[in-house]
Order: sequence, then structure tokens, then C-alpha cells
Amino acid sequence: MKNNRILLHICCGPCAIYPIQILKREGFEVTGLYYNPNIHPLQEYIKRRDALKQVQDIYNINVIYKDDEYNPSTYLRQIVYRENNRCFYCYHIRLEKTISIARRGKFDYFTTTLLYSKFQKHETIKNLCIDLSKNKGIKFYYSDFREGWKIGIQESKKYDIYRQKYCGCIYSEFERYLNELKNK
Ligand code: SF4
Repeated sequence: MKNNRILLHICCGPCAIYPIQILKREGFEVTGLYYNPNIHPLQEYIKRRDALKQVQDIYNINVIYKDDEYNPSTYLRQIVYRENNRCFYCYHIRLEKTISIARRGKFDYFTTTLLYSKFQKHETIKNLCIDLSKNKGIKFYYSDFREGWKIGIQESKKYDIYRQKYCGCIYSEFERYLNELKNK
């Protein structure tokens, strides 16, 4: 497994901690990719990006930041009128881009920190990775990163890394704070 290059799509700093640890332990040369046009608003995108920069320094990995491609319309164009299935399209946008960058960069493998979260649709993400990478000359590395859920939380608290309060998109932000409003 030594020296295999892997592109790790990263949704945020805390979710990246455990997958980075595992991939390094497996002997991968890890490069991160921060591409998340779903995140709303821009300030939140920046907060999460800066938290990832902390993680990057602590765990010593390279990260590609696609700030130049951060545009909420990339996400919203795919979601509007399909809100009931929005997570599927949200994963699709990010994984498709990851595979495209992995191919161009001649990586051997790709994977995603979305497989770390207990709150995401794990099987949907796994199946999408398999489907989207078929016949693309890039291998999907699957691991159930949820096994390290507690480790990621402990480490992010230890290093005081920003932990977000909602999944990312405008809909999840609305649901999160509406609940807070109702519970007041
Ligand atoms: S809830 Fe999360 S995964 Fe689903 S569409 Fe919003 S940001 Fe994407």
C-alpha cells in the first residue's frame, strides 16, 4: 500500500481528523480537497476552511482549496425543485468534482470525509462513489470512518478546532435555527 496517492474530499476540519489518521496509518500519501459549494453563507465557508487549515498543519498534509470555485449557485442550481432529495445532489456535485480532480492529478485513489459523519446518508455516499468512479481509471477507497467518531470529536476539542452547528446548506441552517427559535 506504500506510496499510493489518495485524494481525500474534505467537508470540514473536524470530520477530516480521523480519516487522515487512518489513511496515513494505511500508508497513503494524503492530499485533501476542500470543495464545498453547498456551504452557506460565505462566512461559514471561510470558518470551516480555516478550521481545516489548522487540521492541515497539525497532521501535515497537502490540501487543494477550490475557493475560486466557491459559488452557491453551483449548489442551488442542482437543488431547487429537488429539495426532498437534496443531499443526494449535494454529494453528487462534490464527489464528481473530486473524481475529476483525482483523475487530472493522477491520484491512485479517492475517498471522502462524508463517510465519517453519523449524520450523513452513508450508504448513499458509498454507492455514489462506486457508481461515479466506474470506468474512470480511479479507485474508490472505502472505509467506515464512523468508527472513529469519538476520536474526531476528542481531537477537535483538544486543538480547539471550530465545530459547525449545522450540516452546511441554507436549508440545514434554516432547520437548525428554526428549531432553536421554537425551543426558546
Ligand atoms: S443537509 Fe448537508 S448533505 Fe444535505 S444538502 Fe444540505 S449541506 Fe448537503
